[in-house]
Amino acid sequence: MKKTLKAAVLLLSFLSLCGGDSGNISDLGTYENPIIDSAMSYEQALEGLSANCPLNIKNRQRLINVKYYSFDDKIHQGQFVIDRDLADDIEFAFGEALREKFPVYSVIPISHISFRKNGWDDNLSMEANNTSCFNYRTITGSNIISLHARGRAIDINPVQNPYISGNTILPVNSTYDPDTGGTLTGENIIVRTLLLRGWEWGGNWTDLKDYQHLEKK
Ligand SMILES: [Zn+2]
Repeated sequence: MKKTLKAAVLLLSFLSLCGGDSGNISDLGTYENPIIDSAMSYEQALEGLSANCPLNIKNRQRLINVKYYSFDDKIHQGQFVIDRDLADDIEFAFGEALREKFPVYSVIPISHISFRKNGWDDNLSMEANNTSCFNYRTITGSNIISLHARGRAIDINPVQNPYISGNTILPVNSTYDPDTGGTLTGENIIVRTLLLRGWEWGGNWTDLKDYQHLEKK
């Protein structure tokens, strides 16, 4: 009798494991149920913004959600902070990239706590292979305001698509290999889509290479 009861309890526990939430867990990472990499409010996405950022630039920024295929073969959802005129371009290009399963590691606004060090820190975002857009900062190696500072440039998968100028490679220890997944080339769907819409790709520059970078003036 005791044995039968124990068996019944075991069977019930087994059945409860099979039902309930376990079905949803196995579905996580689909288009309908993406893995959420970022779900900030607009206020959170702009938290810690440099006090030097002019109000007319800040007021043009929009927070958009994007879905992307990632390196774990699952669909993720993240967020961009971007100039209001460019949101359409990015939503379209990322839709195309998702269709072609071009992997994007993560898309999280640079205001995220993991990317803070005396303010928003591009190096921390690059080292985490994070894709981002708006960041009120100067161009690497200069005092000139970057197009990122106006929400008019994006950096995609920095680890696969480093910035290379002379001996400087950012993020450090990264290499550019067009045969590696997540690498941007002239044939890449995001690069092709955005160039058709009037963007410029840093991989086409000759004085230096900024493979992760696309911008629209
Ligand atoms: Zn950039």
